[in-house]
Amino acid sequence: MHQNPPADGWSVFWSARAGVFKIKRAFNAEEMNRTVTTAAEINLHKGILYDKLADGRARCNVCQHRCTIAEGKFGVCRTRTNKGGDIYSTIYGLVSSMSADPIEKKPLYHYMPGSKCFSLGSFGCNFHCVFCQNWQIAYADGASIKDGQMVSPEQAVHLAKRHGCKSISWTYNEPAIWLEYTLDCAKLAHEQGIRTVYVTNGFATPEHLDVIGPYLDVYRVDIKSFSDDFYKELINVPKMQGILDVAKIAKDKWNMHMECVTNIIPGRNDDPDNLRAIASWICANLGELTPWHVTRFFPCAQLTDVPPTPPETLELARTIGREAGLKFVYIGNIPSDQNTNCPTCGSLAVERAGYNTYVEAVTDQGACTNCGADLGIVMTLENG
Ligand code: SF4
Repeated sequence: MHQNPPADGWSVFWSARAGVFKIKRAFNAEEMNRTVTTAAEINLHKGILYDKLADGRARCNVCQHRCTIAEGKFGVCRTRTNKGGDIYSTIYGLVSSMSADPIEKKPLYHYMPGSKCFSLGSFGCNFHCVFCQNWQIAYADGASIKDGQMVSPEQAVHLAKRHGCKSISWTYNEPAIWLEYTLDCAKLAHEQGIRTVYVTNGFATPEHLDVIGPYLDVYRVDIKSFSDDFYKELINVPKMQGILDVAKIAKDKWNMHMECVTNIIPGRNDDPDNLRAIASWICANLGELTPWHVTRFFPCAQLTDVPPTPPETLELARTIGREAGLKFVYIGNIPSDQNTNCPTCGSLAVERAGYNTYVEAVTDQGACTNCGADLGIVMTLENG
């Protein structure tokens, strides 16, 4: 399946493997010659949320690392640098991948089910997960990025509308380190009636949430474990409590739609007590209607010696989640029942087959058509 390139230089093609439309821009000759080899050659964009320090260094407050960066150096994410005592982003508008995805692919099962979400990712990450599934872009060094295409916020929103997407998500790599760009995009998106989504590791600061909060509708957050040791040993992050605190802010202060993901890795975070702690925290703090996606791990990046998650572990996680009080636990990355049934009367509310989604019995207010129970599903832009 192939579509003709549109007149404005963007081409669209069908990726059978990914099951989505992929979008690429045909570079002109001048752009083809653009080769980025050093930070100085990268389009530096003035940052926000930082403190200037007396000795010429600057402290970045975009994520919980709160890096102190000296002149010419980079933060942990390798995409933010100090120039003249100010912090600059090296990835503003720099896109590694984009596509018009089914929103279920994020995964988001309770936000405008069956709609399309325009998804953009850049380079770099503030986490260094040894099991990263997108390591090719997440491990990229902001000082030596040679790939990618420039997409302005106006172009991103234009493309989202053109492809009939009801939302834009920043995904594939960590959106928090892309704040200046996501903020500009999100403001424009809201002006055009398009909803906005962070697919995030949750390590943004409270200040970050306060900046993006008025323009961000959905917080799809990973809770990778309930153990600091896991975050320390496999991600190089000392503590996980801040992730929970900021997720609460997203929910309580900014009223974002929340869905959580735990990728279950054999021998690392599959202990039933750990899974119970995650599920219980979600239920007590984000609410029993918050979907919890427990997904299958596949060997990748530096963790190639660990086998894929056994199906029975995922089934056990689903049982644990339900016992903890969660009404909606979905198993991902493996064929399984993906449907949403009303937890009160059992009616089939949303049927899913692969990425084909059929809304069967949900009101515009997100309740079961049969018995009226709240399913916590956002169905329309008006209610989103
Ligand atoms: S966004 Fe990057 S530079 Fe800023 S605190 Fe986080 S890791 Fe450090």
